[in-house]
Amino acid sequence: MPRLVYLNGKFLPDVEAHISIFDRGFLFSDAVYEVTAVIDKKLVSWEGHLNRLRYSLKELNIDFTKTNDELLSIHRKLIEQNNITEGLVYLQISRGKAERDFAFPISEVEPTIVLFTQQKKIINNQKLLSGAKVISCPDLRWGRADIKTVQLLYASMMKQKALDIGKDDVWFVKNNFITEGSSNNTFILSKNGTLITNSLSPQILPGITRKSILEYSKNSDLIVKEKPFTIEDIKDAREAFSCSSTTFILPVVEIDDCKIGDGCPGEHTLRLRRLYINNVKKELI
Ligand code: PMP
Repeated sequence: MPRLVYLNGKFLPDVEAHISIFDRGFLFSDAVYEVTAVIDKKLVSWEGHLNRLRYSLKELNIDFTKTNDELLSIHRKLIEQNNITEGLVYLQISRGKAERDFAFPISEVEPTIVLFTQQKKIINNQKLLSGAKVISCPDLRWGRADIKTVQLLYASMMKQKALDIGKDDVWFVKNNFITEGSSNNTFILSKNGTLITNSLSPQILPGITRKSILEYSKNSDLIVKEKPFTIEDIKDAREAFSCSSTTFILPVVEIDDCKIGDGCPGEHTLRLRRLYINNVKKELI
């Protein structure tokens, strides 16, 4: 059965959803997106995703008029129609279709809005057992990683580079400090029990999962600090993990062939993951 997708006001089978070759999302990556996890047929951290979507649209000056309620009901209909118990909803909004020109179109254009669903095992992620192995590489992305644009080629190239040598992911380094992962935020737990994640800046995406983890761990026995850390800090750490909407919290056990801690998924990391899941389950929409 074909997947039902949403395109510009219509619910369609995926094979019937077509976008113009003049769409600025296609020609200039002039588009923003969100990925919201689904568990138990419901959306995880919906408000956070909406707020960040509005921020990305504002930063790119994309004039988008659909209300939050309209967006929610499109998400819900796709989850229902495609029978998604666990997985994700992808949403993309581009500036729309216009004659090709670097300048933004002068006349009004209608943004192109696309949504589709994907099934994915999120709770029982296979990588939880072994933990992920990462490599570091220079962060050569543009300087506005805080806007969630579809300009993802460098991250995609580096992720592939990691996979090609038998690793799982890449953590980016700028001026000696880790910025974030290819599609996730990064945390370490130092030997003295401090949970550290990079502070927010234009160099990183303000992850929704990162924000929740910071909130939920306030009541734990861990000291939490938002500050940059280096590869040496990681190699010296007790535990490390990455986080994102569709992986939640994923233990990281190796960087650049060097074991982190004892080289196994960390107990605090797995505890934080359970805490995270228990808390988000209370707030599903
Ligand atoms: N950083 C980058 C570069 C990402 O692509 C993602 C995932 N979209 C994240 C961080 C994690 O963000 P979130 O927790 O909102 O999924």
